Amino acid sequence: MIQIKGINKSFNNNHVLKGITLDVDSGKVVAIIGPSGSGKSTLIRTINLLEIPDEGTIFIDDKQVQFELKKKISRANKELCDIRTEVGMVFQGFNLFPHKTVLENVIEGPIVVRKYPKEKAMRIGRENLKKVGLGDKENAYPNQLSGGQQQRVAIARALSMEPKAILFDEPTSALDPELVGEVLAVMKQLANEGMTMVVVTHEMNFAKNVADTVVFMEKGKIIEQGPPEQIFDAPESERLKQFLARLE
Ligand code: ATP
Ligand code: MG
Repeated sequence: MIQIKGINKSFNNNHVLKGITLDVDSGKVVAIIGPSGSGKSTLIRTINLLEIPDEGTIFIDDKQVQFELKKKISRANKELCDIRTEVGMVFQGFNLFPHKTVLENVIEGPIVVRKYPKEKAMRIGRENLKKVGLGDKENAYPNQLSGGQQQRVAIARALSMEPKAILFDEPTSALDPELVGEVLAVMKQLANEGMTMVVVTHEMNFAKNVADTVVFMEKGKIIEQGPPEQIFDAPESERLKQFLARLE
């Protein structure tokens, strides 16, 4: 579903992604772990062109993402739009519109980008709010919700675009500890329903219990990847062993 080959990316002299190759199969969950600054966010941001790689190729559903179109503004915008329609993203901060209600936040993308009629967008939006356990909050404003509730709205918003995959960048890192579980539970439910997900996370239990594949990155490279049992119970590389030891 997502195929990344030989991605390189530098910020000035800082070579942040060094030849990253990664496949994400349809319906699978890939968790990306690794120390701060290893390039995890930059990697998932390249998947929906929030960062443009310097080199390499990305295929989404066998369709190659055209980076060079960045220079040709109008076509690039269409390309950007298409990719961000098909691949949703949930960030650490929830990025909800503060002046819009929960339902208005959730239906904005489907109406503006997908061009769904308002009725259809509202039906889909309500289904997804129900799915994340917020069916009774559609008229609330973001500042009336807890962080965990806001993040669940952000997930409902991503889902309402009916994407092929959703990327999560540390979706629980900004939350008070007691609110982490409710967000992880929603993500686990999505995984069980077959959503294709790439999740950058510090939640090792989530990676252990929910991911099909765990990817360990360090200094811009994938050092080791495999099923959770291999990564957590039988790590091969010294660097992964050290990383896991530091977590204990
Ligand atoms: P963390 O766990 O702290 O979120 P990370 O693994 O997500 O770290 P990235 O955010 O991808 O790491 O950053 C990798 C490197 O790229 C860091 O050295 C960072 O300073 C640099 N970097 C990231 N984004 C930019 C940017 N927009 N401009 C310049 N440098 C950047
Ligand atoms: Mg990051």
